[in-house]
Amino acid sequence: MKAKFNITKVKMEFIKKGIIRCELCNSDSWLSFAHRLKRRHYINKGDLINNFNEMLLLCVPCHQILEQDPELTKQTFERLRP
Ligand SMILES: [Zn+2]
Repeated sequence: MKAKFNITKVKMEFIKKGIIRCELCNSDSWLSFAHRLKRRHYINKGDLINNFNEMLLLCVPCHQILEQDPELTKQTFERLRP
């Protein structure tokens, strides 16, 4: 099964949890979802790509910092999605 990111459903879940700002710097602009793993890791994993524990709401600058630092990504997920 091809993993399909359901951004509408994910957005709703984050809003319900009250997460509407960047989870790292609290910015409320330029927000996007950052996944724990690269997209290809979610292929054949069913709905895992839409699982709350697999992503963070981040602003673009924070997203880019994590994108370039796998170790920091790992640590950030361990801290925010234990
Ligand atoms: Zn940020």
